[in-house]
Amino acid sequence: MDKPFLANLRKIDPYVPGEQPQSADFIKLNANENPYPPAPGVRQVLRTFDTDSLALYPDSTGRRLQNALAERFGIKPTQVFLGNGSDDVLALSFQSFFCSDKPILYPDITYSFYPVWCELFRIPHEAVPLDEDFCVNIRGYDRPNGGVVLPNPNAPTGRGVSIDVLEDLLQHNADCVVIIDEAYVDFGAQSALPLLDQYENLLIVQTMSKSRSLAGLRIGYALGSETLINTLEAVKNAYNSYTLDTLAIAVGEAAVRDEAYFRETCRRIVATRERTADALRELGFVVHPSLTNFLFVMHTKKDASVIFDFLRQKNIYIRYFKLPRIDNYLRVTIGTDEQMDRMIAVLKEFL
Ligand code: PMP
Repeated sequence: MDKPFLANLRKIDPYVPGEQPQSADFIKLNANENPYPPAPGVRQVLRTFDTDSLALYPDSTGRRLQNALAERFGIKPTQVFLGNGSDDVLALSFQSFFCSDKPILYPDITYSFYPVWCELFRIPHEAVPLDEDFCVNIRGYDRPNGGVVLPNPNAPTGRGVSIDVLEDLLQHNADCVVIIDEAYVDFGAQSALPLLDQYENLLIVQTMSKSRSLAGLRIGYALGSETLINTLEAVKNAYNSYTLDTLAIAVGEAAVRDEAYFRETCRRIVATRERTADALRELGFVVHPSLTNFLFVMHTKKDASVIFDFLRQKNIYIRYFKLPRIDNYLRVTIGTDEQMDRMIAVLKEFL
């Protein structure tokens, strides 16, 4: 080999995020972003932000935002860990808690970043099949494992499980860390929050990218026992102490403190979701029940890839995963009523 260093380079199949179109006129329904702007307080923070403060490093624990989140969830600030988007929090959690030789378990159809982190950090892993309706088979997790990751509700299927099912999962997995990824929980699912007091091995991960309209700022957080949060802090400080910048801490706090705006935008998205589901069913789509800000759908006559390509030509971007079991499905993020009406009109013309 004439370039021996190549043998030492890391080879990995990365996660592929939804396309960010560059054209001016498009409808973007491919990354589960929020169609509404962040809370009004966010604009106020940005207008009055003291730029001189950027000369200093940020507060590495993000105390102001930690306190705001602790108040909102009725827990101690020492039970809150902040990161640069929940992808950062999840990646650190995989490194912090999945150090066993046994495989970690997660659903076979789920957030496609999980297997990528397992490969990156060399964590053994096994996928537990969802049933035919894409529901979680909780008994599939009753076996020796090095940890469990369950998104609730799941992505890209949109289905959720009740808090009783989550408690059952925790009771059968007391010897490992159980991560519940609640990226979409604010659109109608039950949070595992009431179980935090009882289960020291439970870590809940949430994000401000979806229900708080802050995908561009990158804020995620974990809620858990002090044992888990202290471990995350230590691993973070062994890697990069300042994952959240000063601006993100201030903006995140403003977003968390506006409960009324948060509730109203979530309510609107849920209403648009149900309207869109009905309209898609009328066009011959099978629409799975969703507790998220997206719909997982399949057409009874047309191939998913054909519909995807057609919409893309019309500058409407949705998501298609060419993966086993779901290669005839489409994931459609819920936008505004106007955006969804436009998509339905274009589909009607096509079908
Ligand atoms: N978990 C799930 C299930 C997701 O779909 C996403 C969004 N791609 C994330 C976590 C990460 O979101 P973020 O890094 O923007 O917080």
